[in-house]
Amino acid sequence: MSKKKKRVLITGGAGFLGSHLCDRYLSEGYEVICMDNLSTGSADNIAHLTGNDHFSFVKHDVTNYIHVGGDLDLILHFASPASPIDYLEMPIQTLKVGSLGTHKALGLAKAKDARFLLASTSEVYGDPKTHPQAEDYWGNVNPIGHRGVYDEAKRFAEAMAMAYHRYHGVETRIVRIFNTYGSRMRIHDGRALPTFMRQALRGNPLTVYGDGSQTRSFMYVDDLVEGVWRLSQSDYTEPVNIGNPQEISILEFAKEIIDLTGSDSKITFEELPKDDPQVRQPDISQAKKVLEWEPKYDRREGLSKTFDYFKKKSLPE
Ligand code: NAD
Ligand code: UDP
Repeated sequence: MSKKKKRVLITGGAGFLGSHLCDRYLSEGYEVICMDNLSTGSADNIAHLTGNDHFSFVKHDVTNYIHVGGDLDLILHFASPASPIDYLEMPIQTLKVGSLGTHKALGLAKAKDARFLLASTSEVYGDPKTHPQAEDYWGNVNPIGHRGVYDEAKRFAEAMAMAYHRYHGVETRIVRIFNTYGSRMRIHDGRALPTFMRQALRGNPLTVYGDGSQTRSFMYVDDLVEGVWRLSQSDYTEPVNIGNPQEISILEFAKEIIDLTGSDSKITFEELPKDDPQVRQPDISQAKKVLEWEPKYDRREGLSKTFDYFKKKSLPE
């Protein structure tokens, strides 16, 4: 007799990270239901899955009641705008998907007795006062600042997940994702990496905000997917940082992209957005200990794979 397939619901499944997760869980033998309202995602990201009998797509805004027929084993809750320009353009929707959307997805997990994994973020640490950031740091977030709509939505979502875990016994997992890049990012999403690659490809100046001394730690998407997979299979309920500790200043990062792409672009400096975190680097001791996970891709390798993707995308049809 054939074994019944496990079923996973991936909210935000047509987005950058969600679509890579659809691929991974299908390859692990799951039946995948991808739910997305296509606000910042794209049907193109999952077009290659059309016709796969184990994959289905449901267009739905998860801030409204979520109906899924049949059993569910797992919910990966990834729906939310993620790029600063997206969440600054959609501040209310961002707060709603983090709060109402997370509540609906947790209610579904409780009803189906499914495990629930929340995509949280390094932004819960805000503009951090400790460096690197470990999970026991409570953060430094301006609740009424422009970025607050995203940071506070995710902090609320974490609190809601823990409440469902403590009061309803739902099996919850929380991944705090640090800056991730790779194929299927939108070239116009405003994040540093696609912006710099687009500018380098066109020979335009790379726009570094502030003096570029602020730091980030960039992780290749395949490493993130592996971390999420391991966490979803683990028994660990506390938040876990998943990120690449290789830290770099944004100015150095811009130079690295010019070098990698062989572009003759120059660098220009523009005003630093308000509340832009000055530093960011994950402490991944917990992920190493409980998931035996650490990133495999070094930045140079990940960046050149991503550049190949953007080169193909920007060619005329
Ligand atoms: P993305 O914008 O590509 O994907 C988000 C997806 O959610 C999109 O497909 C969008 O259409 C969908 N969505 C948004 N609101 C929705 C709603 N109300 N109902 C249904 N679908 C909705 O962004 P991403 O980079 O893939 O991020 C995915 C998740 O990972 C987000 O929750 C984000 O906060 C988190 N995250 C990402 C990063 C990163 O570096 N990419 C870092 C930290 C956290
Ligand atoms: N940044 C920049 N030029 C750009 C886009 C972003 O200098 O064209 C900076 C931004 O101010 C931030 C860093 O690059 O300090 C990373 O920005 P991103 O939007 O990628 O991610 P986040 O700020 O959410 O970490």
